[in-house]
Amino acid sequence: MKTIPQNWAELEPAEKTTLEKLFWLGYAARHKLIETTQFSKSKLNSVVAALIDQGFLEDRGLPFQTGGRKAESLCFKQDLGVVVGVYMGATGFDVAILTPNLEILALQTQVAAIRLGPGVLMPQVKAMIEATLQHLHLNPTAIIAIGVGIPGPIEFASGLLVDPPIMPGWEGFSIREYLNQAFARQVFVDNEVNVLALAQQWHEQKNQKNFLVVKIGTGIGCGIVCNDEIYRGSSGAAGDVGHICVDPNGPLCHCGNYGCVEAMAARPAIIQQALEATRAGKSPLLNRILEQKSELSSEDIVQASREGDAVATGIIQRSGLLVGQMLAMLVNFYNPSHIFIAGRFAHAGPLFLAAIRQSVYQRSLALSTRHLEIRIADLGRQGGVIGAAGLAMLETIRS
Ligand SMILES: [Zn+2]
Repeated sequence: MKTIPQNWAELEPAEKTTLEKLFWLGYAARHKLIETTQFSKSKLNSVVAALIDQGFLEDRGLPFQTGGRKAESLCFKQDLGVVVGVYMGATGFDVAILTPNLEILALQTQVAAIRLGPGVLMPQVKAMIEATLQHLHLNPTAIIAIGVGIPGPIEFASGLLVDPPIMPGWEGFSIREYLNQAFARQVFVDNEVNVLALAQQWHEQKNQKNFLVVKIGTGIGCGIVCNDEIYRGSSGAAGDVGHICVDPNGPLCHCGNYGCVEAMAARPAIIQQALEATRAGKSPLLNRILEQKSELSSEDIVQASREGDAVATGIIQRSGLLVGQMLAMLVNFYNPSHIFIAGRFAHAGPLFLAAIRQSVYQRSLALSTRHLEIRIADLGRQGGVIGAAGLAMLETIRS
């Protein structure tokens, strides 16, 4: 792959508008770009000609082929470079190299606890980006930009982590500066739920304007898409819904309050409840797994429920009802068209989703739920790296 000089910042406003519309559409015929940019046909044609001339776009002609006639479809030029998407979770991280059209070329996963701190984690992330590029026979100069999703509150403008509860040792650390120094490319960092929301927005080709993406993992967080844009709030903390109280008599949360939904329904709470029930002799099936592995994972609990274990099923249902109770408040407040459930536990099966829905519909106003759809986020595990790379691509176009 050759690399062309990248002069994104010098693009004309009309060129940036066209590139951003194309970013959301993936591949687009000219008539579709005329419709979304609302440019005249002649203006769009001259903008597209300039972008093709500068090496940003190409016409592949394939996806819109109809009736044997090769229809025109534009997309980002293949040799424009690649985008790096990094998605960091509490227990591991994913690194992917993607085309500017967000097709994944390579994806690697590593188990690593985020609480080990940036001194341990960041050299591993850097090494994995280098190794993945090498695997694709690419040079770091092929990188257009790097996007990173992290499981902690971040001030988007400065890229600095602010008092991250599950990321001790990261306070004030700049992931942006570290990766920028390593690869001499622009780096964009955002909270993981915002990255997942962006992935969903991209997957929907921006057809939904007001929706929520709720991630249930080690914590519980919510990405908010408001009027077509990610809503981060006045200081970047919007969507930190894990500490909404669902039971004032509930257990103590790590934030110091009692009965937070995160302390009662997120993965560590689910595992804790399963361990307690198992030790009390209530689940022979979970007890067998515990004896074999000397620990329980959320996957074990899901599997036990599938095999008919009543304790596991009860724990999953209770978690769904509590998450739904919290979501009902968001629905009444925000009136989203969709709620997408993300995170590994999202795949706990129809039971979990049914419990969430039951709780939401029971507690929300009829007008708020009339058109509400609650379902699993579409991109699954890949949503993290696609969203992180999407963030990098979008911010590069807008820069
Ligand atoms: Zn809390």
